[in-house]
Amino acid sequence: MSLPPEAANILRSGGLVAFPTETVYGLGADATQPNAIARIFAVKGRPATNPLIVHVADASIAKRYAMTWPGEATKLAEAFWPGPLTLVLPKSPLIVSVVTAGRGTVGLRVPDHPLALELLRAFDGPLAAPSANRSNRISPTTARHVRDELGDAVDLILDGGPCRVGIESTVLDLSGVTPTLLRLGGISRRQIEAVIGPVKSIGQIAAHEPAMSPGQLPVHYAPQTPAFRFENFADPVEGAHTARGTIRLGSKNEVEKEGLRIALPRHPELYARHFYEVLRELDAMNLPAIHIEMPPQQPEWAAVRDRIVRATKAIDH
Ligand code: AMP
Ligand code: MG
Repeated sequence: MSLPPEAANILRSGGLVAFPTETVYGLGADATQPNAIARIFAVKGRPATNPLIVHVADASIAKRYAMTWPGEATKLAEAFWPGPLTLVLPKSPLIVSVVTAGRGTVGLRVPDHPLALELLRAFDGPLAAPSANRSNRISPTTARHVRDELGDAVDLILDGGPCRVGIESTVLDLSGVTPTLLRLGGISRRQIEAVIGPVKSIGQIAAHEPAMSPGQLPVHYAPQTPAFRFENFADPVEGAHTARGTIRLGSKNEVEKEGLRIALPRHPELYARHFYEVLRELDAMNLPAIHIEMPPQQPEWAAVRDRIVRATKAIDH
């Protein structure tokens, strides 16, 4: 799909445009218009306390919306933009405060998708965009997911095919003394530390930690079907005659489906690409439960493990 000529004008007149990125589909609105941003929160049912990420076409434009731009930001933008890394920096007054949930900082990112970049260049402004799903539901990774969930509530949906990364961006806070990881995602801690040295981590599942018990983490999103996780050495209901859906680790580089059993690739990037899509598929089947096998406790799986933990409860033994 090429960019429809009306897309930028819809944004300028305060409308909502859903668009593809390499992570998940975004629901975009002009970050300088309070009424447009209010529509995002209303359509998603998103709490006003949860800030939105602002998308821009390149790093030089990002700088306009940050009050300070430290050396780390330059290095990280050179290394990873366009790409799945959001940088949190002191905000410029040009970004309205509803976007940042009243905070003095703004999350900025350049998405790595040709249609998103075309939209950003045509609009020529800062585009606030959370994932294009209702709050606490599964993030959309195809245009069809967006249509099914938001339909007419959105003025335009751009179809750029399935998302390559499949989970949300990594969020790194550069507004304090020490760079701090707020969310794991498409760029790993190791990749970031290779560019700027050691970073702190907040509220994330460290790779060496066991799956957390329910309640320790706020549920960020979840399927509507009761969903549980298990470590691969202990699938407590294996063999039981329940009509539960199961997501396990397969051996191949492709998704394998056998009725309610789905095997995802044993490769963190490929797993992430397909995770939300298969979770959505199982969630639509009205099953009594979904069980998900946890991938290995290794650094390269940290972002995927984080998303599974947020979507599930640990099975009680
Ligand atoms: P999403 O839910 O994918 O739209 O991403 C929004 C998330 O990015 C928020 O829930 C925060 O975790 C993070 N974020 C965005 N802006 C800020 C900010 N100004 N300060 C801290 N975190 C932010
Ligand atoms: Mg979201």
